[in-house]
Amino acid sequence: MEVVILGSGTSTGVPVIGCSCEVCTSDDPRNRRTRSSILVEHAGAYILVDTATDFRAQAIANNIPKIDAVCYTHTHADHVHGIDDLRCFNKLKGGAIPCYGSPATCESLQRNFPYIFKPSEGAGWRPHLEPNAVTGDFDLFGLKVAPIEIEHGKSMIYGYRFGDVAYLTDCSGIPGYSMEKLRGLKLLIIGAIRYQPHPSHFSLGQSVEIIEALKPERALLTHLGHSFDQEKTGAELPPNTGLAYDGLRITL
Ligand SMILES: [Zn+2]
Ligand SMILES: [Zn+2]
Ligand SMILES: [Zn+2]
Repeated sequence: MEVVILGSGTSTGVPVIGCSCEVCTSDDPRNRRTRSSILVEHAGAYILVDTATDFRAQAIANNIPKIDAVCYTHTHADHVHGIDDLRCFNKLKGGAIPCYGSPATCESLQRNFPYIFKPSEGAGWRPHLEPNAVTGDFDLFGLKVAPIEIEHGKSMIYGYRFGDVAYLTDCSGIPGYSMEKLRGLKLLIIGAIRYQPHPSHFSLGQSVEIIEALKPERALLTHLGHSFDQEKTGAELPPNTGLAYDGLRITL
């Protein structure tokens, strides 16, 4: 199985428009962060998590040849608004692409993007997704996928566990029953937005506490804001923990 970090940035991306801080003006390409998303490659299948605002650029930068399924974490704009560019992958596939999410996520996608779910209505070249509301574990191409309920401010959203890999992008709390589903991980990818506390995202310190509690073999921080420098912040992290960066590929 391979996991590709397509995007590692918070909702604004980094650099932040109009900002001239050290990280936003850094020469290190790893400090240039598109909106958060990953690709899971398993048994020849390509599973996309979220269609981030920068999805088109991510697909081109990483030479994504096809998309077999999309798992949505939630419907905030930074995780969804690249959705229209799935139409090129529908063309490559020659049909609809299944998407997965909580009942609330599937309902919200269908309400906000009716043309994607009812492609027979109207004219033009549009994406076509088949919604699958999931509330428990499911199978994708022989891989066990577990939705993991996590707190994101006042909402409950999904993270996902794919085999021994978990992806928890926008997270401000993890209920005990979800912690239990995150034991024995080879890789944990978890959000950390900044050093200071935030109402709907873990700070760096809070994410490190979760990593220390779950003890995955390796951990990567994602959904990163512009207070984190790949080199400087990376050096402050515990062993086997690092900052994700766009284009990073992990083979498991
Ligand atoms: Zn987000
Ligand atoms: Zn900045
Ligand atoms: Zn969010």
